[in-house]
Amino acid sequence: MKILVVEDQRRLAVMLKQGLSEAGYAVKCVATCAAARDALCEASCEAIVLDLGLPDGDGLDLLRQWRKNGFNEPVIILSARDAVQDRIKGLDLGADDYLPKPFSLQELLARLRSLLRRQANVKDTVLEHRGIRMDLVGRTTHFRGAPLDLTSREFTLLEIFMQNPGRILTRSLICEKVWSSPYEVDANLLDVYMSKLRAKFDTRDEKPMFKTVRGVGYQLQ
Ligand code: CA
Repeated sequence: MKILVVEDQRRLAVMLKQGLSEAGYAVKCVATCAAARDALCEASCEAIVLDLGLPDGDGLDLLRQWRKNGFNEPVIILSARDAVQDRIKGLDLGADDYLPKPFSLQELLARLRSLLRRQANVKDTVLEHRGIRMDLVGRTTHFRGAPLDLTSREFTLLEIFMQNPGRILTRSLICEKVWSSPYEVDANLLDVYMSKLRAKFDTRDEKPMFKTVRGVGYQLQ
């Protein structure tokens, strides 16, 4: 499993290389946008750990380019910029996760594992999470064994979350997928659909199925 690390802070890059290698990954470290572009042209990789402030540019521009070119593997952003706006921008551009610096190596490894596991499930036609079972071919949904009655819009909405369990999905990303518009169709429409969807899952005895991330979006927990 090959990981590309784009990080210009030498000491951090060395620590990441060592930690990831010890965890069994093959690691390639680069320190600039140019070197990152070259590295990805030369060889494929299964995930990217990306710093934003790089000497010759912005990591977000790299990410935008990669996603535009069809690079679909997980990308985790590492950055000192922990402002909500930067987080939203990174997630909107297609980052899978975001770790503000300083972070613990253990947490990075845990998130990486979960992203790579999720990636392996993407092509499944049956999605399962916390008792929810979605059959994408038969277009049926069950919760704890009982069939759920979902409208086509609700089905699409739930599918986006089931493809990305644990990932924070921004409002604009959800709207783009469900209503084919990057703009919130109506500021309240998404919230209305989310509360309808929430009501279908009785999780009184445990944590709610969907978490609202204030000012950002929603997360299937
Ligand atoms: Ca940096």
